[in-house]
Amino acid sequence: MNYSDLEKKYIFQTYKRNPVLFVKGKGKYLWDDKGKKYLDFFSGLSVCSVGHCHPKVVEAIKKQSEKLIHTSNLYYLKPQIELAKMLSGMFFGGKVFFSNSGAEANECAIKLARKWGSINKNVKNKAGRYEIIAFNDSFHGRTIATLSATGQKKFHKDFNPFLSGFKFAEFNNIASVKKQITGKTCAILIEPVQGEGGINIAEKGFLKELRKICDKNKLLLIFDEIQCGLGRTGKMFAYENYGVEPDILTIAKSLGGGLPIGATVAKPNIADTLKYGDHGSTFGGNPVCCSAAIEVLKIVSNKKLLKNIKEVGEYFILKLKGLQNKHSSIIKDVRGIGLMIGIELKIEGKGIVSKCLEKGLLINCTQDKILRFLPPLIINRKDVDTVIDILDDVLNAQTSV
Ligand code: PLP
Repeated sequence: MNYSDLEKKYIFQTYKRNPVLFVKGKGKYLWDDKGKKYLDFFSGLSVCSVGHCHPKVVEAIKKQSEKLIHTSNLYYLKPQIELAKMLSGMFFGGKVFFSNSGAEANECAIKLARKWGSINKNVKNKAGRYEIIAFNDSFHGRTIATLSATGQKKFHKDFNPFLSGFKFAEFNNIASVKKQITGKTCAILIEPVQGEGGINIAEKGFLKELRKICDKNKLLLIFDEIQCGLGRTGKMFAYENYGVEPDILTIAKSLGGGLPIGATVAKPNIADTLKYGDHGSTFGGNPVCCSAAIEVLKIVSNKKLLKNIKEVGEYFILKLKGLQNKHSSIIKDVRGIGLMIGIELKIEGKGIVSKCLEKGLLINCTQDKILRFLPPLIINRKDVDTVIDILDDVLNAQTSV
């Protein structure tokens, strides 16, 4: 039996996999089992941002795994404290809860907001508050709570009932947010750049207004930066592009350089809402994952790299706009920030993704028609030129069909 038959036989069929088996990764490249080399402009869904098997990350994993792989959160862990201190230094002296994934980071944020709302009651009737306003086309994870917060019906089908207490507003529409505020609202949860939803970028004025609304109504502002954080937009955190500070920030994906780790970072007075026993995770803050994450943060916070992300990102968008002019019958829009970029097509995108794969380029398609580019943050203009040439070829073939 080949690997695709074995996968079908032994693994839940929840992923539609591309017909390729990767066996090696280094920097921006991957190799399959036949030795074919690929340029990775997807980074394992924004995970391998510092490149595959970054030597500093590998070294940290090796060193830590030779010393101690796991104890428990019932004891102190040096790499965990060190990583929390780094994150705190980057996020307003905040405190951190460590988990293993993005969904769990959001789960913690939701619990934190609900407990905060139950203590910080409605000023008029003194009732606890628990409602969270999220957004249409958002994506916050696959657990029942984070799916309840996800504003896309396609993820909800067949999994009812969902958690109550989530309301949805239109992205970039303040009036629609105001409509959803009730005496029970405790927080607003938003991705500054929606990833899965199609690379939808929040407008500056919109996030600024959200901050004002939160301050006026005593609501928590939660930014899900699981996909758009940690350098992806050319700043350490996406909110820095807006000059708007959230109260709670969730990160995961690229934090562990490929190892599973999530973090919920909250301003200290808010973080202290959760007390002993209120939340926990067996593996959260595992020392090997934390050691890898420390190296990732060191690499990404390098100003040169952040500058490169902005510059190469702008160059990439410019080149894609050139492609849009050339292939205007196929490309509807090009949008992005830093190295989080999408092409909205007038046709379905999966055929283009497959053709790119055949030509040794990894990209992704979301929302059926949006080609999503999440390359490692270490790419350069030459890599962009390579990608543009491949896309041009694929689109030319598409036009001549
Ligand atoms: N939030 C955002 C913005 C995401 O993009 C994702 C995953 O794509 C998640 C949350 C969920 O993360 P995970 O798959 O690690 O649970």
